[in-house]
Amino acid sequence: MLQAYKEKHAKAVIQYSIIDFNGIVLESDNVLFSPIETKNIADVHPFFESLIPLLTVENETFTFSCIHLEYNNCKITSDVILQTFNSKKSPLLIIHDLTTHYNNYQTTAQVRNESVIHSQILELKNDYLKEKEEFKNAFIANFSHELRDPLTGIITFSDILEQSGLNHQQLDYLNVLKSSSSFLKDMIDDILDLSKIEVGKLDLVIDPFNLHALLDDLKLNCIVKAKQKGLTFHYNFDEKLPKIVGGDALRLRQVLTNLINNAFKFTNEGSVTFNVSLNQIRAQKASIHFEVIDTGIGIKEEDVDRIFNSFTQVNNEDSYKGAGLGLSISKYLVELTKSKITVDSTYGEGSKFSTNINFRATPSLKLPRQKPASFSNIKKDKKYNILLVEDSEITQLSVLKILASKGQFFLDIVFTPEDVISKITNFDNEFDLVLMDIKLKENSGDEIAQLIRKLPEKQHRRIPIIALTAKVFKEDLKRYKKAGINDVIKKPFNEASLLEKMAMYLK
Ligand code: ADP
Repeated sequence: MLQAYKEKHAKAVIQYSIIDFNGIVLESDNVLFSPIETKNIADVHPFFESLIPLLTVENETFTFSCIHLEYNNCKITSDVILQTFNSKKSPLLIIHDLTTHYNNYQTTAQVRNESVIHSQILELKNDYLKEKEEFKNAFIANFSHELRDPLTGIITFSDILEQSGLNHQQLDYLNVLKSSSSFLKDMIDDILDLSKIEVGKLDLVIDPFNLHALLDDLKLNCIVKAKQKGLTFHYNFDEKLPKIVGGDALRLRQVLTNLINNAFKFTNEGSVTFNVSLNQIRAQKASIHFEVIDTGIGIKEEDVDRIFNSFTQVNNEDSYKGAGLGLSISKYLVELTKSKITVDSTYGEGSKFSTNINFRATPSLKLPRQKPASFSNIKKDKKYNILLVEDSEITQLSVLKILASKGQFFLDIVFTPEDVISKITNFDNEFDLVLMDIKLKENSGDEIAQLIRKLPEKQHRRIPIIALTAKVFKEDLKRYKKAGINDVIKKPFNEASLLEKMAMYLK
């Protein structure tokens, strides 16, 4: 029975033939090619002609793979084996039909090659897009960085000019200058944020902060804005709001400032309301509700979703300036806390922007101990030696003007590592502080800081170093800290931000 099945299903795939030394087939089982007896194998298929010279080689096995053969309607892809013996015993020719095997192999190989080519094309496309994206982001980052030095110059000299006894009209002009440069500064910050969002590098920095102080500060800003625009300002801060919470204070301020500024910007009469209430405290988390309500121009229903897109402004009037970035950045920041911004608006009547944000809230939360940052810390009767490492003339001049106006500082300016080290080690007096630009033409400030921290003399290597830089993202701050830099002053800075930070490190 089994034999019968075997005979039915087993397909003959190997043909055995005995041939003489000239290639004449003496005997064959004819399972693939038939009839071939008495024929010369070279006449069966031209391939076999190449075997004739091998027939007289004694005791050898010759194997040929993947040979296409065709004879009398039998077309196969096969392995051919020629086994020779001695001069008295005729050679054996074995033809192994492996058509299915080779076909499958070829199909698989082809599919594989195609998919390799396909994935290579995808990879190339991807690399191209990535390169383009990286170029764009690097361009934005560098370009906005380059804008900061001249901007620092404008801001500093506006401050200095303000104190130089200007008449009323000059002061008015100066105010235009100041508000334009502060607008420019905000825009640069937004563009930088956006480039970071696109590469997924904008993260929250969670630390304990004083929520009450932050809200009071925003409230004061609102009061000033309302007065300027002739609007009424209402606010309601829930008494139950915890004072110290864990969260990203800077980013919270950024989101709320954006909502508040928009409310004032798009409201020409009526009021702006800022309410903050506690939803609940549960599992060491405080859920806090923020809402900003205005009686302004409102937003059409069909436009509400669009206002969160980058560079989108839905009102076409030129009188409202802005780049249309604030809300898209705010939306992203709020989403980082797993929340969202809700808009409720009636066109022509006003808008309400609200959000619920979770903060860490435990009784044990403490504010980080900070030396009070006040210029009054600086001893009135002492002169301080400051080393400024900076190659931008605008910043050199800005720092020089600010410090000179105080009459308490000696300033030395250098910008190569050699000069920094020789200044510190050869100076008669000790330097009290190093102000270090990070992006110098030849070196980076953090490299120079590392050199200072390796100096042999204790009093040299322990000089406080404050970085002056526009690059203050998380990974930058980590790098500065690792290089031994004590603190950072963000560019563009003004007189107050420079002196307050310096005061923290001057004894
Ligand atoms: P910007 O205010 O710089 O234009 P935003 O991203 O903050 O950019 O806002 C995008 C757009 O959404 C605004 O240009 C405006 O058309 C609309 N918008 C935002 N807030 C309000 C508001 N309170 N009232 C009316 N329209 C608003």
